Amino acid sequence: MKKNINIYIMIIAALAILLTATLCTMAYYRVFRQEVMTDLKVYTELLADASFTGDEETAKVYAKELSNEHIRMTLIDESGKVLFDNVAEVEALDNHSDRIEIEKALEYGTGSSVRKSNTINKTNFYYAIRLPDGGVVRTARETSSIYHMFANEIPIVAAIAFLLLVVCFVISNFLTRSILAPIKNMAYNMEEPENIKTYKELEPVISHIKEQHQNILKNANMRQEFTANISHELKTPLTSVSGYAELIENGMTNEQDTRKFAGEIHKNANRLLTLINDILRLSELDTTEYGEFEVENVDLYESVLNCIAMLEPAAEKHHVTLKASGKRTMIQANKDMIEELVYNLCDNAIHYNKPGGFVSIHVEDNRLTVEDSGIGISNENLSRIFERFYRVDKSRSKKTGGTGLGLAIVKHIVEIHGAKLAIESQPDVGTMISVKF
Ligand code: ADP
Repeated sequence: MKKNINIYIMIIAALAILLTATLCTMAYYRVFRQEVMTDLKVYTELLADASFTGDEETAKVYAKELSNEHIRMTLIDESGKVLFDNVAEVEALDNHSDRIEIEKALEYGTGSSVRKSNTINKTNFYYAIRLPDGGVVRTARETSSIYHMFANEIPIVAAIAFLLLVVCFVISNFLTRSILAPIKNMAYNMEEPENIKTYKELEPVISHIKEQHQNILKNANMRQEFTANISHELKTPLTSVSGYAELIENGMTNEQDTRKFAGEIHKNANRLLTLINDILRLSELDTTEYGEFEVENVDLYESVLNCIAMLEPAAEKHHVTLKASGKRTMIQANKDMIEELVYNLCDNAIHYNKPGGFVSIHVEDNRLTVEDSGIGISNENLSRIFERFYRVDKSRSKKTGGTGLGLAIVKHIVEIHGAKLAIESQPDVGTMISVKF
């Protein structure tokens, strides 16, 4: 990239130099031409005024003066025959009546013309005036052609170009370096992005990368913590299973104890299964984004009724009344996920309730509300209950078979459906959780 920027800047500089040199030469040549022509005009007018027609002696005097100025002077009669020339031999010159400036002078009184010389790098300027006797006096001057002038300039242009290119190279190097330095720096200083020296245009990029980097770190930490938690959660039931199995294996138990221990093994194995199911479910949801799962028209109210039917036995066991109200509400969602969400919320409302309490579920305006008259959640716990494995009362949760993952799953389902979750709770009074789709 740096090399490319350098090359571009050098090309632009080279083009600019070439263009400037060409335009300057053209402009200069125009002025130069005008000046040469004006000079010739003045000389010719002077000669014409002197009116030395036919007087070769006077002509010679003038001619000498003009030779010093490198000006050629020619005297022509009305037929075009050359009478006098201070540069060429008169005898060798042909009839001049076809020369443009002479033709014009014969017709209009004055005439001028610019012609290429026999040699490519010279140009001839001519100015002619008709004399009172009908002849014509003409002056001419040979100058460098525009190509020659340009060619003459080439060494100077090349020297300036070289200098400018060196300056451009240094500047472009400096610029690219100062543009790229913070980016390079950033790559090596990802851990402490505050220390990167930056400039205004790069700030949004850096702060975006900073944010991403912090998110990556946060995610990595969360994953690490999650793995540690999983190991810990699996360890407890597995230790029990292993302990009871060992007692039975050693033959140290009577038949009654053996049955009891087998029951414990069964219970802990079930708990392990539930845990593993929830963990798998969560990691599945972790990698799912909206659009990656099946979405259909789901009747939220019908999902609520299905869950109530499944949870009725648990509610009876806890002496809790389940009530549903509202009306059919169609939403675009994944049916299984919606039932999982409703089930988890109602399951919690039953388990963290009080005997004789109620759970009321209401569906209206794309909104699901689950309200209970349970133990409630204190303010400091309210923000944490959606974290994985977080439980307010560990022993109570475990007793009811909770894994601490239910609300984390709920939060995930809400997020990937683009829904909004709200929670209100008061200890000893109850909790209300609502999800707006
Ligand atoms: P668990 O499997 O322990 O129920 P959840 O993720 O579903 O895990 O809930 C996390 C914690 O939030 C629970 O352990 C409980 O302390 C608290 N909680 C959840 N729902 C309610 C509720 N309706 N009333 C009171 N506390 C609740």
